[in-house]
Amino acid sequence: MGVIRPLDEHLANQIAAGEVVERPASVLKEIVENAVDAGATRIDISAEEGGLNLLRIADDGAGIAADDMVIAFQRHATSKIATGKDLFQIATLGFRGEALPSIAAVAKVKCVSAIDHSGLGRVIEIEGGAFKTDSEINAPKGTEMVVKDLFFNTPARLKYMKTVQTELGHLSDVVYRQALARPDIAFTFVHNGNTLLRTPGNGDLRQVVAAIYGTASAKAMIALSREHPDYTLTGVTAMPTETRANRNAVTLIVNGRYVRSQAIMQPLLQAYHTLLPLHRYPLSVLDLKMHPTLVDVNVHPAKLEVRFSKENELRAFIETAIKDALSSQAYIPSGTNQRTAKPSSWVQEQIRFQVPPVTEKAITADMVSDNVISEHTVTEDFVSKEAISEATIEVQTHANAARNDRVSETQPVYRNSSNFVSPERKQQDRIPDEVWKAAFAAPEQKSTAPAFPELSWIGQLHGTYIVAQNDNGLYLIDQHAAHERINYEYYYEKFGRPEEASQELLLPVTLEFAPDESTVMRARLAAFQSAGVYLEDFGGNTFMIRAVPHWFPDGDEAAIVREMAEWVLHEKSVDLHTLREQAAIMCSCKASIKANQAQSREAGEKLLQRLGSCRQPYTCPHGRPIVVSFSTYELEKMFKRVMS
Ligand code: ADP
Ligand code: MG
Repeated sequence: MGVIRPLDEHLANQIAAGEVVERPASVLKEIVENAVDAGATRIDISAEEGGLNLLRIADDGAGIAADDMVIAFQRHATSKIATGKDLFQIATLGFRGEALPSIAAVAKVKCVSAIDHSGLGRVIEIEGGAFKTDSEINAPKGTEMVVKDLFFNTPARLKYMKTVQTELGHLSDVVYRQALARPDIAFTFVHNGNTLLRTPGNGDLRQVVAAIYGTASAKAMIALSREHPDYTLTGVTAMPTETRANRNAVTLIVNGRYVRSQAIMQPLLQAYHTLLPLHRYPLSVLDLKMHPTLVDVNVHPAKLEVRFSKENELRAFIETAIKDALSSQAYIPSGTNQRTAKPSSWVQEQIRFQVPPVTEKAITADMVSDNVISEHTVTEDFVSKEAISEATIEVQTHANAARNDRVSETQPVYRNSSNFVSPERKQQDRIPDEVWKAAFAAPEQKSTAPAFPELSWIGQLHGTYIVAQNDNGLYLIDQHAAHERINYEYYYEKFGRPEEASQELLLPVTLEFAPDESTVMRARLAAFQSAGVYLEDFGGNTFMIRAVPHWFPDGDEAAIVREMAEWVLHEKSVDLHTLREQAAIMCSCKASIKANQAQSREAGEKLLQRLGSCRQPYTCPHGRPIVVSFSTYELEKMFKRVMS
């Protein structure tokens, strides 16, 4: 007798739910997508306990006809596609007809719907796939879905749910992305009775950005609008100063669908190349429209990934569009007209008064003092030309280092270091975690780095590299990277002694966060305090920086606290030790802003000496090499003085 038989529908739905319904946020995503597909102009979402107890989504869309209501909860039942051909030109968010039966299989679902304003609707209730009630009811036009006790009948799945806070984070992410994708729909999002988001639904993307990221961020965005025979790009993208530490800052939308796509992300980042510090991401919302036949949306269970049929064209289009948008904003300021650039952000605007204007100057020996090298304080509210050229120089340095490494057999000194991060790896770019870890492993442990060679000064190249020598050969030292390392070790030590007094800001600076971020911030204020940073919860989503350690780089206090906050917000748990390391990196970056500076011999020698006494003198805190060498033997080989 045969042993194979079709699964009954209930079991099939439970299995499908395993794929479609991973957590409350996936339920929310499916139901909100249905509301969008139904042509809703407003979508009201409320959740309790991270959505595990309750999710309620009400829309004013087309509604479900009484006769269709039960069918909608059957497997593979959909109104959105009918033939195989339709699958290749999908214009709706949903199309598989799997969501409702899957959700109903693992929760208690109530669906109320009406297709007109007659006041007459229908309600059905399903628990764990079993129909409970089905009756007429008074209802406004549209649909209300209530999902209770998610995973009540699949305890194994329930066990894997994280804290309410984590699930709320995922829910918020779904709501934010949908709201960004559809500024023409008014969204509200309430969690445990607190309103976390309200968008006006008037089609203005900037207002949605403001509701989610704060008005200051919204102001620092450039509007995009670009046509191509196959594509239309609209949206907003940040000025290079409005960056985030996490790639979540980027929202990519294709035909109204939020997606993750390297085919769009990579050219976007490429367009910012050298304008952004390493491992920083622009706040961006890219809204791309194209004919549905040009994109396959049926390649991922949660429909988060898509495949483009003309990917190379698309990449080129995105890169050019973003590059043009950035350069149209004069973000590469000319020396004669630097003030045309827009103010970068509230941070600089608000704290500028504290900083005496510092003009560019050569480093003198006394600036390389016994504690910290204060090279240059950036007080300008734009990306300085130096900062940009510095970034360019760094990239070139690595390209050269990488090339030298392979082709001309020069031996970068940093190769000996245990914390060596290869130039190749750096070139791949944007792999923050590994690189950062590699970088700040150093001062914490006892140093395993070999002793730094004693070097004597020859001169300086292009205001950027120190040229030095010893019996073994020729050395090039990246002056900026060296400063960063010295400063990093200085700050790292400082952060290790929190008892050192913090000092109140003359005029306190405020920080604004998204609602879910504020909750996390509130819970982690103590961590900041342990690093000497005193934040005050100012109500709403606003926090005030009261005091910071007095040795924070002048004028960059708020920017550093903001960066610390971003870091803290994206970590699952924050241990004080790592927070201090991160903060030290941030301070050292700020305190060592630029490369192009003439350097006196005296100051240069002092720098080398201080570098030599660092615990890890071979890489900067971001893992980039500080020094490369050409051995005497290699030089002789190059000049064919020796044969081998
Ligand atoms: P899909 O969205 O892939 O079609 P679902 O299981 O999510 O599959 O939904 C099944 C059907 O129920 C949809 O095709 C649609 O006709 C109907 N439906 C679901 N939610 C709504 C809603 N909020 N408003 C109107 N119709 C809806
Ligand atoms: Mg659907």
